[in-house]
Amino acid sequence: MKAQAKPDDLETIRDRVRTAGLRCTSARLAVMRELAKAGAPVSHAEVADNLASLGLDKATVFRNLNDLADAGLVIRSELGDHVWRFEIRDPDAPDGGQHPHFMCVDCGGVTCLSDVEFDPATRKKAAQIGVVTEILLKGRCKKCV
Ligand SMILES: [Zn+2]
Ligand SMILES: [Zn+2]
Repeated sequence: MKAQAKPDDLETIRDRVRTAGLRCTSARLAVMRELAKAGAPVSHAEVADNLASLGLDKATVFRNLNDLADAGLVIRSELGDHVWRFEIRDPDAPDGGQHPHFMCVDCGGVTCLSDVEFDPATRKKAAQIGVVTEILLKGRCKKCV
């Protein structure tokens, strides 16, 4: 029986990067691991800050985030504040890992709402309007109310 792999397990990450057809460079693995640890969408600046201690510069981090997004390993989203955020895509999640988010209008913190789902009637209605690319709830997080 295969043990449930932790999302930030280096072997799991290496496998995913390789399966996506990308080379497993140490920078790429570090970026993936950082996103896996974050467990929510994080900005390029946040990832770059956290990886500065490993000697990765901002440009390298940005290039790798975009490579990973292009390869489908990472979801890149812009939640209306002109900041690109990146989060690891859960390959086992339905809808390709797309899920709604909650954004705090005060601190800008973003939380994944993985369990919130459209019911079939809402889905049908949304399909009549067009293609939904992002579901975003805004408000104040517990720290900011
Ligand atoms: Zn907040
Ligand atoms: Zn999310």
